[in-house]
Amino acid sequence: MTEFTRTHRWVVSNGYRVRIAAFALACLPIGLHILPRGYGAAVWALFVLQFLIYPHVMYWRTQKAAHPEQAELNNMAIDALLCGAWASGLGFPLWISTAMFLANLLNNTISRGASGILVCAIAFAAGALASTTVIAFHVSTDTNGLVTLASMIGLAAYLSLIGIEFFAYVRQLHSVQDTLDQQRQTLEGANSILQDQIEKIHDLQEKLREQANRDSLTGLFNRRYLEGTLERELARCRREGAPLSMVLLDIDHFKLVNDTYGHQAGDEVLRVFGRLLMEHARAEDIVCRYGGEEFLLVLPKMPLDIAHERAAQLLKIFQETIVSHADLRIRITASIGIATTPDHSASVEGLIRCADQALYQAKRRGRNLVIAYGEGAPGDAVR
Ligand code: GH3
Ligand code: MG
Ligand code: MG
Repeated sequence: MTEFTRTHRWVVSNGYRVRIAAFALACLPIGLHILPRGYGAAVWALFVLQFLIYPHVMYWRTQKAAHPEQAELNNMAIDALLCGAWASGLGFPLWISTAMFLANLLNNTISRGASGILVCAIAFAAGALASTTVIAFHVSTDTNGLVTLASMIGLAAYLSLIGIEFFAYVRQLHSVQDTLDQQRQTLEGANSILQDQIEKIHDLQEKLREQANRDSLTGLFNRRYLEGTLERELARCRREGAPLSMVLLDIDHFKLVNDTYGHQAGDEVLRVFGRLLMEHARAEDIVCRYGGEEFLLVLPKMPLDIAHERAAQLLKIFQETIVSHADLRIRITASIGIATTPDHSASVEGLIRCADQALYQAKRRGRNLVIAYGEGAPGDAVR
């Protein structure tokens, strides 16, 4: 059993109303036609059955059908069939037959489209043929003035009724369309707000990702960023057969800066130190704040001697820099340890360890020095 939907209900109830009206309107001209002809009780009984009871029987039948829409379509063909039978049985009175045929034609074409013409014509003709076979063929096309008038009024009333029904139906469709349009606009509005919010969330996520990789004081990359990047850089240089130098810098006596000038001044020194490193880095270098006052430069494709030179230049720049904080003028130096792959180690950990040991040597030998890993005598240090 199919579900009895809104459309089903509409088709069935609309068919019921239209059928009751159509057969009631046909009552008058047909009644006026048969009255003077003195037909027997059987014809009058058939008349009552057809024009007053039949529409209700069809409604009941349609409601019970498994496919109410299809049943209603079938009903329309049956209507045409029975009207054809009546037209033939009455001897094809011109106005009555025409009005009945047109009403059926209208119903069937509205519900079936162009194929409704064929269905109506065939059903009407079949009804007429069946009636002719049973009652015998006779033609009495004339209708008196009253019957003609009743037929014309009946047809006009029926056409108006269908027009009014469809007017209401179309208006209802328009209002549904308006509602849908409004809902679509509301949804589009909500959708664009949602899109904006998604974009904002993406921006925020991007910012968060960036912040997670940055040191908040200096704006340089942090150690966390290095963890993901160093292995990749090292692998790339290895693939290309290029060296990679690692330069570890540590500000000398930084604790003293804090103790002497205050923590804020110490922060400013770190900021300036970071800025200097950034300013003198190549695009492919990675500048990172490695710890408190320790910084790491990763220099892809840079051999040891060039890295050494760069580090020495940096030391010179630090020496020449005066950090201003409030009315303070602070001078700083740094110590630097360098290690290069593949000479000193092939691994990230190994390189950092070597650079750290070289830095330790630089500190040990008096600070403000660049020491490469494995540099032997104290005289090797570059000032
Ligand atoms: P050395 O020359 O041997 O490196 O001596 P140092 O004083 O620089 O080294 P030490 O490791 O003794 O001290 C480092 C200091 O850096 C200790 C710590 O309070 C300070 N520090 C670490 N992070 C920050 C920071 O973000 N801001 C400031 N102002 N100080 C920091
Ligand atoms: Mg340190
Ligand atoms: Mg230090």
